[in-house]
Amino acid sequence: MGVLRLSGCIFCAIAAGEIKSQLLYEDDQVLAFRDINPAAPVHFLVIPRRHIASVLDLDPGDADLVAQIHVVIGKLAADLGLADMGFRVVVNTGEVAGQTVGHLHYHVLGGRELGWPPG
Ligand code: AMP
Repeated sequence: MGVLRLSGCIFCAIAAGEIKSQLLYEDDQVLAFRDINPAAPVHFLVIPRRHIASVLDLDPGDADLVAQIHVVIGKLAADLGLADMGFRVVVNTGEVAGQTVGHLHYHVLGGRELGWPPG
């Protein structure tokens, strides 16, 4: 199952309530909060509460967790008015992709035209 919490991890600290965030959703497995540096009119992050470094560290036992993350993404995107217009879900993984926080997080971006391919 891996570590529950990694010391020095900013998203573990947010999950523990030690660092404030603009929380949108939480349950025993998953947390969602607004990105502190939004790249779109709507930009929030969905993370597992437990420390998982990236998608490379998921295993089959995490299937329910990953499903719950996707359910939360859909629910919040709809609640925040993105369902009709559409939105993007991004999981940067590793240095080349620009992952800066080593705790798995799903970016949800919407509220403007989103170019493709991404930079
Ligand atoms: P990435 O570059 O894919 O690892 O994304 C990390 C994201 O976390 C960036 O979009 C940051 O703006 C965001 N971020 C970093 N610290 C915080 C924080 N304390 N609260 C909310 N979002 C944060």
